[in-house]
Amino acid sequence: MTATVKDVLRNELAKGSPLITKDGLMSEIDAPEGTLLRLVDKDGEYLGTGYYGEQNKGAGWVLTRNQDEAVGQAFIERKLELAFSRREKFFNNPETTAFRVFNGEGDGFGGLTIDYYAGFYLLSWYSAGVYSFREDVVAALQNVVECIGIYEKKRFDTKGQYIEDDDFVSGERGEFPLIVRENGMNFAVYLNDGAMTGIFLDQRDVRQAIRTKYADGKTVLNTFSYTGAFSVAAALGGADKTTSVDLAKRSSAKTIEQFSINGIDFDEQDILVMDVFNYFKYAKRKNLSFDVVVLDPPSFARSKKHVFSAAKDYTNLMKETIDITAPEGLIVASTNSASFNMKKFSQMIDKAFKDKNQKYKVVETYSLPVDFHVDRRFPEGDYLKVLFLRLL
Ligand code: SAH
Repeated sequence: MTATVKDVLRNELAKGSPLITKDGLMSEIDAPEGTLLRLVDKDGEYLGTGYYGEQNKGAGWVLTRNQDEAVGQAFIERKLELAFSRREKFFNNPETTAFRVFNGEGDGFGGLTIDYYAGFYLLSWYSAGVYSFREDVVAALQNVVECIGIYEKKRFDTKGQYIEDDDFVSGERGEFPLIVRENGMNFAVYLNDGAMTGIFLDQRDVRQAIRTKYADGKTVLNTFSYTGAFSVAAALGGADKTTSVDLAKRSSAKTIEQFSINGIDFDEQDILVMDVFNYFKYAKRKNLSFDVVVLDPPSFARSKKHVFSAAKDYTNLMKETIDITAPEGLIVASTNSASFNMKKFSQMIDKAFKDKNQKYKVVETYSLPVDFHVDRRFPEGDYLKVLFLRLL
């Protein structure tokens, strides 16, 4: 169908943005998700072809600027081939066997990501619209590469959350945990066990930095630790001791598993199932302080006592962190919230240090690693922001 866009969106599309914004359309789309949209401006001039898919602020993604190009299996194969060629170095590196091979709009198809886990492929669908291309995507993937097995995550219930299901798609079923490598470290992953796999691949460079530059001989506190991946990196980097804190009951067994498959004695590490905000209180009462504190909260979380939103609460979280960081210690502050940019993040952090009257300097910053390929014309696609902060 044809969809007419307002001038604001026409200008964004002309600059190369692939996002079809909801309020950029002249009228709401009255068609099923997945319908191809022929985008035109109010003079009827062709701007591009995209699909209709409801995702956060978006109503879909532009796929091509060429009205003669058909969007089907062959189109997807071309996108996949280009994406795989961009990751050739990763495929040839036996030290890292888990990485992103297709990064949504960064690789020319918004709403779909594909991750590689030691021979297995994990598709993530971010709208019902993109899910309508499933058959073509799976066929294209099988044509372009050898897959042991394919799994998927449907991340598009009414709140954009994961839909619980058997996530196996085709090929051979894996045996889990599947052990993948990352810069020589081992990580246990589960491709058919809920929304998350056990490791966040976008933090690879940050884990490596902690391991090789900041952990040796240090005490390391890892908050919102999930399966303890940062703790593993720190322990392998020579940390004196790591302390992992996460609210989820299963995080403890998962963290023990990650330590164990890396030959680390988990009895010498602290693993606590606890609300981070209660841990801060406890640590202050006991006068604890850490040389390195890793802070990687979810964008949004609700616990019994707290509602945490990165956009609103990061400054307070930082203040609590500063209180339990040793003099000249290091804070690794991370967020994957797409609702604010690096500038705003830096300001939130700066406010915390000012309020605490604590001097600091930024020693390193990280955004998405190269396998999470971002289109230069759509920098908003780079949601990861990590600052390494040295207390002075
Ligand atoms: N830093 C982790 C990923 C964090 S995912 C890594 O790199 O692997 C977010 C985690 O925060 C989840 O495991 C969730 O259980 C935990 N979480 C959310 N709210 C929390 C709270 N108030 N206290 C402790 N953990 C919390």
